[in-house]
Amino acid sequence: MTTEITAPVALADYYRLDDTLSDAERELRDRLRAFGELDVAPIIADHWERAEFPFEIVPKLAELRIAGTTIQGHDCPGMSHLASGIVSRELSRADGSISTFFGVHSGLAMGAIGMLGSEEQKARWLPPMARLETIGAFALTEPKHGSDSVSLETSAARSGDGFVLNGAKRWIGNASFADVTIVWARDEAGDVGGYLVEKGTPGFDATVMSGKLGKRAVWQAEITLTDVHVPAENRLEHCSGFRDTNRVLTATRGGVAWECVGHAMAALEHAIAYARERSQFGRPIAGFQLVQAQLASMAADTTATQLYCFRLADLQQRGEMTSEIASLAKLHNARRAKHVCSQARDLLGGNGVLLDYVVGRHLSDMEIVATYEGTDSIQSLLVGRDLTGVSAFT
Ligand SMILES: Cc1cc2nc3c(=O)[nH]c(=O)nc-3n(C[C@H](O)[C@H](O)[C@H](O)COP(=O)(O)OP(=O)(O)OC[C@H]3O[C@@H](n4cnc5c(N)ncnc54)[C@H](O)[C@@H]3O)c2cc1C
Repeated sequence: MTTEITAPVALADYYRLDDTLSDAERELRDRLRAFGELDVAPIIADHWERAEFPFEIVPKLAELRIAGTTIQGHDCPGMSHLASGIVSRELSRADGSISTFFGVHSGLAMGAIGMLGSEEQKARWLPPMARLETIGAFALTEPKHGSDSVSLETSAARSGDGFVLNGAKRWIGNASFADVTIVWARDEAGDVGGYLVEKGTPGFDATVMSGKLGKRAVWQAEITLTDVHVPAENRLEHCSGFRDTNRVLTATRGGVAWECVGHAMAALEHAIAYARERSQFGRPIAGFQLVQAQLASMAADTTATQLYCFRLADLQQRGEMTSEIASLAKLHNARRAKHVCSQARDLLGGNGVLLDYVVGRHLSDMEIVATYEGTDSIQSLLVGRDLTGVSAFT
């Protein structure tokens, strides 16, 4: 199922920010676009409706050689932060579920190992993860702790040559089939660590959550951990507390801001194309002033999300992106992209709620993007603390 309308791609990059891409980054973008158009668009609406993960996409994603994005060595691409952002943008522009599958595997799971793993852990896990032969998950959120995941209760007790984990996790992407799930747990000294739980470990039970209103083609799991034994070498070597978990989340929050750009661009492109083709009152709706004002407002919002992200990539490349700078980009872009998708859905009238016409899927998926890795309120509190020097939430 796909809409037959051809979307005007260039208009969604109104300030021609892609002109600043290097040749390698532009080539990467074009490869991702071809993947989106040829491999994702023809199948995704059907999978989304049936809430089925498109496993057939995984080998094609592997061929793109993008997993691990900015990680250097260990068969990872070692790309620029801008290129990594373009990956998040283009995957989301194609489809939010696939983007989330990739973000969890590459950004969160590989990112945690790349940032906090020992050389041995990186050498063991990163190469097969870069080839997507080994799939990763990142289990932080718990049934009782989402926004306050810093208060997580899953425990890791020393036992013989390793640790025993007990607790529960919720909303964990890929975990029902992942080969390795990084479980964040608190040790007897109260410190949070990351533990690599391998598929099939007794006591690790992951059940797919059902009934989601967005990102329906990617699976999240409810996890219970009952006396799960993890060998000592599977504790992330360089993690010495939640502060380190946060370092991983700061890096991926920038990726989420880029996801917003992809959703906004897709919605704008489809809305422009539809407005040109759809006639009411004897003329294309694109000729009505109110419709043009709506499209102009969508273009302004989409451009703003792009400007945030291009600057974000620049700061990240220089090592100057703070957690709060990433929070402001996520806050702004999620708000604007949700609005752009909502306006696009409105411009498509009744067709806007049909999967065939694409924009409704982006709107639903944006609700999820706005929630994960910290809601609007949480990002506001982080930025507010930075601006005032006073924490309103601890
Ligand atoms: C589809 C999906 C995929 C996900 N994937 C993963 C994953 O792979 N791994 C993972 O670990 N997690 C994942 N998550 C979890 C996600 O990060 C959390 O849902 C998110 O952090 C919010 O937590 P919560 O759902 O528990 O909401 P809550 O924390 O209960 O928040 C409820 C409401 O209270 C507000 N609130 C909370 N505290 C404050 C405060 N101090 N001041 C003002 N308002 C406040 C929030 O903003 C929100 O509006 C996923 C979630 C979804 C929906």
